[in-house]
Amino acid sequence: MYAFEYHRPTSLRQAASLLTKSEDAKIIAGGHTLLPTMKQRLAAPGSLIDLSQIPELKGIERAARSITIGAMTRHADVANSADVREAIPALAEMAEMIGDPHVRHRGTVGGSIANNDPAADYPAACLALGATIITNQRKIPADEFFTGIFSTALEEGEIITKVVFPIPSKAAYAKFRNPASRYALVGVFVAKRAGEIRVAVTGAGSDGVFRVPAMEEALAKRFSPKSLEGITVPPDGLNSDIHADATYRAHLIGVMARRAVQAAANR
Ligand SMILES: Cc1cc2nc3c(=O)[nH]c(=O)nc-3n(C[C@H](O)[C@H](O)[C@H](O)COP(=O)(O)OP(=O)(O)OC[C@H]3O[C@@H](n4cnc5c(N)ncnc54)[C@H](O)[C@@H]3O)c2cc1C
Repeated sequence: MYAFEYHRPTSLRQAASLLTKSEDAKIIAGGHTLLPTMKQRLAAPGSLIDLSQIPELKGIERAARSITIGAMTRHADVANSADVREAIPALAEMAEMIGDPHVRHRGTVGGSIANNDPAADYPAACLALGATIITNQRKIPADEFFTGIFSTALEEGEIITKVVFPIPSKAAYAKFRNPASRYALVGVFVAKRAGEIRVAVTGAGSDGVFRVPAMEEALAKRFSPKSLEGITVPPDGLNSDIHADATYRAHLIGVMARRAVQAAANR
């Protein structure tokens, strides 16, 4: 580690001001990604702005048609929320599959989305559910938010404050985990809403999370795992690494998609 300034604001306004005024500042949420990156000297911010003491960034609210989750809400709180479990059980189950208990009690929704790790789970949930990411400056639809691996539409100094998830009629998430890290080798989130079906894949794309229009069109005709038979995602452009090559990942997308549709159909 090396020297840096540490700030712990108690309001969003204060955080935004510190972020623009402090030299080379970076937000810290759960620190689960940022701190290891700093330890390895892959990042060296001059100041850290800790969002943990800002009450307005925490909590879960349920409305008739949506669930709103504050950026500093921990994965464990989403997994254990009675409102999320009732309204979008797939989202609670997804949160429960993240990492291990330590990761779930430190990692935050905002940190996960802002980081946009190509193997993270929340980007798939946001894209499939048609979520809206709210920042201290604007509202960004998930379709426009995830712009590539570790890359998002966030501007310099912009802070995610909450995420609004529309409540689907059916949804499910199926994940093939890396047994060591628990990140997704491939994860597929399927959501059915009035007039729309979305299939979002994480863990596989070399550009990060993506949708599979051929599967969405087939499921719109009939929402059944059988509708996905014969639909394949080509391995070109998928990740290959020591854990799985592109061909295996392409195969897993089909398997995970069918499992997710089956689980959603059973709800
Ligand atoms: C061992 C291990 C296993 C994991 N397994 C999984 C897994 O299975 N699935 C999964 O999805 N994730 C997994 N994670 C990631 C973890 O869940 C966290 O979500 C992730 O590390 C980022 O969240 P954080 O709150 O720790 O963010 P931080 O590390 O604090 O920040 C990450 C980045 O986001 C920025 N940021 C944070 N909050 C905001 C905000 N509100 N507005 C704008 N920018 C912001 C920071 O500046 C930084 O650049 C794992 C992590 C570890 C260490």
